[in-house]
Amino acid sequence: MYAAFYSGMRDMKTKLIEAKDRLGGRMLFYPEKMIWDVGGVTPILCENLIRQLEEQARTFEPTLVFEQQIEGLDRQGDGTFLLTTACGEKHWTRTVIMAIGYGIYKMAKLELEGADRYEVTNLHYTVQELEPFRDKHVLISGGGDSAVDWANELEALAKSVTVVHRREKFGGLERNVLRMRESSVDVRTPYAVDKLHSISGDRIEQVTISHVETGESEMLEVDAIIVNHGMKSDFGPILDWGLNMGEWHANVSEKLETNIPGVFAAGDFVIYGSKLHLIAGTFTDAALAVNSAKLYMDPEADKVAYVSSHNSRFKEKNKALGVVE
Ligand SMILES: Cc1cc2nc3c(=O)[nH]c(=O)nc-3n(C[C@H](O)[C@H](O)[C@H](O)COP(=O)(O)OP(=O)(O)OC[C@H]3O[C@@H](n4cnc5c(N)ncnc54)[C@H](O)[C@@H]3O)c2cc1C
Repeated sequence: MYAAFYSGMRDMKTKLIEAKDRLGGRMLFYPEKMIWDVGGVTPILCENLIRQLEEQARTFEPTLVFEQQIEGLDRQGDGTFLLTTACGEKHWTRTVIMAIGYGIYKMAKLELEGADRYEVTNLHYTVQELEPFRDKHVLISGGGDSAVDWANELEALAKSVTVVHRREKFGGLERNVLRMRESSVDVRTPYAVDKLHSISGDRIEQVTISHVETGESEMLEVDAIIVNHGMKSDFGPILDWGLNMGEWHANVSEKLETNIPGVFAAGDFVIYGSKLHLIAGTFTDAALAVNSAKLYMDPEADKVAYVSSHNSRFKEKNKALGVVE
């Protein structure tokens, strides 16, 4: 999103292609969390930061394309690129900035037959809002950061919270795990969810959990189940492009160049000497990658963008904001 903004600032015609149906990337996994570590932004709800980033991304009216996963990259005779997508759409471009994080994310699902039918009712893989869980018997399956966080946040609100985890040890900050263990949260380890029961047919009303070593099982009444079994991600056919890749990252130069001339990269996807895998790090990468892309297309161009505070591109926009210059 920031690359799309910055690219507009550098007068480039920009198209942002996203595989999902909305912008936000990994931040969509924690929309209800507060973010404190973005420079110049006081504590902000993640979903509001996504909204602000999107608003900023739209400043220079880039073309936004949703639900198209990029799969192919082919250099044409004239040096431009043809990008092909999983759904058969084609996009032509002179340069590419890959800001694809760790690829396409999918929540690891509860591997029980028929579980997917309850995803529209009371089987959840993310917590968008806490309020729907008020006064409910909530069962959380999993032991990662988010499972622990959700247990702590729901404890004050739900009628009961049970955490079922197949290992004794939990992920997440020690103090959060301790808080959970010392609270009214019913922690069951090493247990796993074995069976979902529904009398109504559309909601889960009971769950069988089993001790992973002894097999001893127990039935629990539930109103809602939250599953946090981690994420799976996948780069798909992008791995066949010939990029210089480590296991999870593309090796790039300090100008954010990949080994394919004309293809730049930014954000979590990349690795270089002092790379910062945080939101703040993505901004610097994006600006550097855009500046490199600009120079690739126009070697005579300025090496960096003019600052926004003294840039005629913002004159009319500032007027629209009521700023007298
Ligand atoms: C639980 C959690 C909490 C976090 N908390 C913080 C925090 O408090 N502060 C902080 O600074 N950072 C935090 N982070 C890290 C932060 O979210 C990432 O650094 C940031 O999201 C990276 O942004 P990105 O644009 O590089 O990649 P992503 O956010 O991963 O975005 C990549 C986008 O590319 C799309 N995509 C992938 N492949 C394709 C393809 N082939 N075609 C089309 N689209 C594709 C994906 O769908 C996705 O939308 C957290 C991360 C997690 C998981």
